[in-house]
Amino acid sequence: MSAIQIELTNIDKHYGAYHALKNVSLRIEKGTFVALVGPSGCGKSTLLRSLAGLETITSGNITIANEDVTHVPPRKRDVAMVFQSYALYPHMTVADNLTYSLRIKGVKKPEARKAAEEIALTTGLTGLLDRYPRELSGGQRQRVAMGRAIIRHPKAFLFDEPLSNLDAALRVQMRKEIRALHDRLGATSVYVTHDQIEAMTMADHVVVMRDGIIEQQGSPLELYDSPVNQFVAGFIGSPAMNFVSATAQADGLSVKLNLPTAPVLEVSKRLAPGSEVIVGLRPEHLKLLSPDEPSAQAIAAQVGIVESTGSTTFVTTVGEPSLTIVDQGSRRLKRGDQIRLHIARELVHVFDKDGHRTA
Ligand code: ADP
Repeated sequence: MSAIQIELTNIDKHYGAYHALKNVSLRIEKGTFVALVGPSGCGKSTLLRSLAGLETITSGNITIANEDVTHVPPRKRDVAMVFQSYALYPHMTVADNLTYSLRIKGVKKPEARKAAEEIALTTGLTGLLDRYPRELSGGQRQRVAMGRAIIRHPKAFLFDEPLSNLDAALRVQMRKEIRALHDRLGATSVYVTHDQIEAMTMADHVVVMRDGIIEQQGSPLELYDSPVNQFVAGFIGSPAMNFVSATAQADGLSVKLNLPTAPVLEVSKRLAPGSEVIVGLRPEHLKLLSPDEPSAQAIAAQVGIVESTGSTTFVTTVGEPSLTIVDQGSRRLKRGDQIRLHIARELVHVFDKDGHRTA
């Protein structure tokens, strides 16, 4: 059992009348990379800022490395924040930005320079130490912001949407760099993002938030395979899961979907006969059947929109609700084609009318 590096217990945060965090508890093991993810306004930045001490919580308790820091000011919490805005000093060189925290602690200039050179090696900034932030690309500025955090040897790294200002290709590269750095340093990292792909690809442990509460937490694949409710099911995975209302059949082991062709699908859990449920079908689990392929439970549909990226084809069917399908082949499909889809019963997700996964 690993040591707990960060523990948030029963955190409440009110901004005036607004209840931004509602009794949130979270334990983070040493050495893990945790992503806080959720739609804009769900409270993830507030939680991160509370951990850093930049927000005063209304009630609850925070420990970092077994020390109660609930009332400790940010500077003394020994955590390093990396922001989207980089927050670099524009009038200072890269070297001075990197070593600012050492210099204010009284470290002498030659020693600080040596530390800056070491960090530059780790973060790919060698040769740039005497430049000013305005002379750097977005990715390089982000590396300086990370280097400045690393040089302090903090107890935890806290990232607040650090890659939002970068273009898509650079974001993918920086994702890998940040994760590799985390591993090399044996760090404990908490990373806020609204991008579930970023969360899923970078983190060991993903915390999905909505409206100031934690909806579910677990490994990326736990969340993907077994979302506890319709919100998490729809939030994790891209393209998003399809949802179709359905009625459990008399055998309790199949459902009739409320689609024009009223297909019947087997499910792997017994349902109360006649109960109304919501069925979740991931686009990548819907398999196109060839015309002569037999299937006891095919969903018949008509092709609406076809979008191909070359390797992958996204198909949207006609009708309400329409279904999205992701397929690795089928490039010859066109609007109006009749198709049949198959899904294995263990891949069918079932939620009750309130959106909770059925037992
Ligand atoms: P997220 O990071 O998930 O987008 P935030 O934690 O920034 O969300 O904000 C959570 C909620 O708290 C939002 O509804 C936001 O408007 C509100 N909020 C954040 N900061 C303040 C503040 N200083 N004063 C009042 N409300 C705030």
